[in-house]
Amino acid sequence: MEHVAFGAFNPRFYGVSMFLTDADRRDTLNRYFEHPDSFPVRANDGSPSLGEISAISAIDHELRHFHDFLLSPFGTIMMGLRMQATINGFQAMKTIQNCPGRFVPVPLIRWMRWDAAMRQKWIDTTGASYGIERTEDVVPIPYVEDPSKSDLQKGLHPVQDGVSHEIRFQQYALTAAQAFVSMDKCRQRSFSEYNLDVTADNIFEATAHLVQLQAVWTGQDEASSKLFFHFVMNSQSKQLKPLQILWMALQKSITVTRALELCTWMLLGSYEQIWSRGHPANRYLQVLTLAAAAPDHEIFSLPMPALQLFARLDALMQAGAWSDNLAAAALSADRRSSVYARAAETLKGGFFDTLFSVATVWYSDQRAVRATFAKDPESFVNPLRYLNERCYPIPLVETRFGDDVHEREDSLDNLNARAITIDDQDRQVLSYIVRLKSDRTAHDLDDAFSARIVTHMVDFLFTDEPVTDLYEHWCRSQAKKLINKELISVY
Ligand SMILES: [Zn+2]
Repeated sequence: MEHVAFGAFNPRFYGVSMFLTDADRRDTLNRYFEHPDSFPVRANDGSPSLGEISAISAIDHELRHFHDFLLSPFGTIMMGLRMQATINGFQAMKTIQNCPGRFVPVPLIRWMRWDAAMRQKWIDTTGASYGIERTEDVVPIPYVEDPSKSDLQKGLHPVQDGVSHEIRFQQYALTAAQAFVSMDKCRQRSFSEYNLDVTADNIFEATAHLVQLQAVWTGQDEASSKLFFHFVMNSQSKQLKPLQILWMALQKSITVTRALELCTWMLLGSYEQIWSRGHPANRYLQVLTLAAAAPDHEIFSLPMPALQLFARLDALMQAGAWSDNLAAAALSADRRSSVYARAAETLKGGFFDTLFSVATVWYSDQRAVRATFAKDPESFVNPLRYLNERCYPIPLVETRFGDDVHEREDSLDNLNARAITIDDQDRQVLSYIVRLKSDRTAHDLDDAFSARIVTHMVDFLFTDEPVTDLYEHWCRSQAKKLINKELISVY
């Protein structure tokens, strides 16, 4: 099944991204976006196809990533790092054109981690063929073995007035690199037991698939949900393995709702212990260990309200109360938010305005999700209620076409959508950004679009691998205009 890789953990776009890379899927989802109320849809001959089942329900899968990300302390940490990377990275990008050196090595973090000998070796071989003769031809950046261990101030690094462009660039670049490398470490952190490697992503995938399973059942039919369930439980994807194993361990008593409750609890770990017992993967293994030892334990089989279940899990695992964990994460988000508010007073204009606007929406969405959840967790962990009531914020949706463009007969004129086009008539569309609900404004659409571009440009400069589709390619071409030096790939 098509899936936005890590979309929920490293969102360049504040919202949900859908890849409409083939015409069938495009057609199915266009109908969904235009008439969401007219679904469920049946396949033409009445029998379900996994492709169509997945396409129609993919939006619910991605929405759950979005909400889990807003709710969980893990998501709050990633959000902070994401903003640190983008804002400092963009500051670095703006300063780069005033620095010495004609060439900018991309990704910058790779160059940063090469010592003098490795840099020289690259110049002597590959670099020479681009006309690079000495390290002075390249913008100056110090060697840093592990940028995540930098002692620069986290968040928004305050560069002092009066320092040279070169120093400004280096400090911003290092603060951005620190965030990028920390984000990677967060994502790669895994816990192992029973020959099983578990990452946070696995738990986020488990909840998203469980919600999607319910969406297939309610939005389509029983035959479709059986087919989808079979796919989830038999898929070779490593992402689904932890869910498959937990399900097998508890097969006598487990239900979709109980599995969603358990996996949601795993996401609510301690903010302070997020690298150890508070990590979603560690909490998964705590639950799995109990499931293996006592599959008939009441925690797995006895019906009880989510609040009671969470309290019992907290006690059984000797963990802090989930509500305290959410409160600690909220406090840290509050602190970040006031730092952004202060920074927005001096960093004004263009991309900065849109970045801070998006940060503000993000922050208020987090508060809304936490408040609704704390009042009534069932609205989140009961998949039927979660899907039917839609009481969590609905984000903007970005649709992308891979290597393709969407050819329009006329330019788009729609209050609820923006098109990113590459021709003068605005008919060749690389991507649409759509609002599904009126609580997002036209202003939000423009901000999200603009923030998407700057985030992408910064990612390209610091960490990215080669282009994967036309949209990515276009975002990168925007970066070149700002940098005003020659970008050179270092591999
Ligand atoms: Zn997913």
